[in-house]
Amino acid sequence: MLDADFFRRWMTGMAAAVDREADRLTELDSAIGDADHGANLRRGFAAVVKALEEEPSGTPGSLLVLAGRQLISTVGGASGPLYGTLLRRAGKALGDAAEVAPVQLAEALRVGVAAVAQLGGAKAGDKTMLDALEPAVEALAESLGESFAAAADAADQGALATVPMRARKGRAGYLGERSVGHQDPGAASAALLVATLAAARG
Ligand code: ADP
Ligand code: MG
Ligand code: MG
Repeated sequence: MLDADFFRRWMTGMAAAVDREADRLTELDSAIGDADHGANLRRGFAAVVKALEEEPSGTPGSLLVLAGRQLISTVGGASGPLYGTLLRRAGKALGDAAEVAPVQLAEALRVGVAAVAQLGGAKAGDKTMLDALEPAVEALAESLGESFAAAADAADQGALATVPMRARKGRAGYLGERSVGHQDPGAASAALLVATLAAARG
């Protein structure tokens, strides 16, 4: 079972990963965007960690909802509402249980990713975070929530697969053909989100 501490470890791990990788994320965003993705997520996940520290109680679901709200309110860029929606919707789907089974988390994340697709109007192949998130939640669902490592691999491969894609959404979408040959920054950060999820499992 996954308890509230698991979700705290996930968010703290993501904040650390984003800190460590901020320059790389910003570099990717400077090629096909506006060079702020690292800074956006750094600000967002720092706010998440602070909010979680100020909330000593909380269930897996309520902590994810809180984290999602922080991302929505602190990140100016497109990635804030998108990641915020992912976490908020997944948190809502978890309800108020003190512990959740991995298979419940797998289903909740699927709901969250579907909400991201709906909010952004994007689908797999559009060169966005969804190209890492969708294969990851599929891999997790296939293993009934047991294989976080398979999800992390799928996310990594999905992020790399965005390199030859032509962007159809977000700022990179305006570049059209010129977006080809660069990895999507949001797909790269989504791979970090799934990698830190796997690391929280231990
Ligand atoms: P902004 O583009 O507003 O500066 P960020 O740089 O923080 O925001 O985030 C950019 C990332 O957000 C992109 O690399 C992409 O993965 C993701 N993104 C942008 N628009 C969409 C969308 N409509 N649907 C899904 N993901 C999107
Ligand atoms: Mg940007
Ligand atoms: Mg921006």
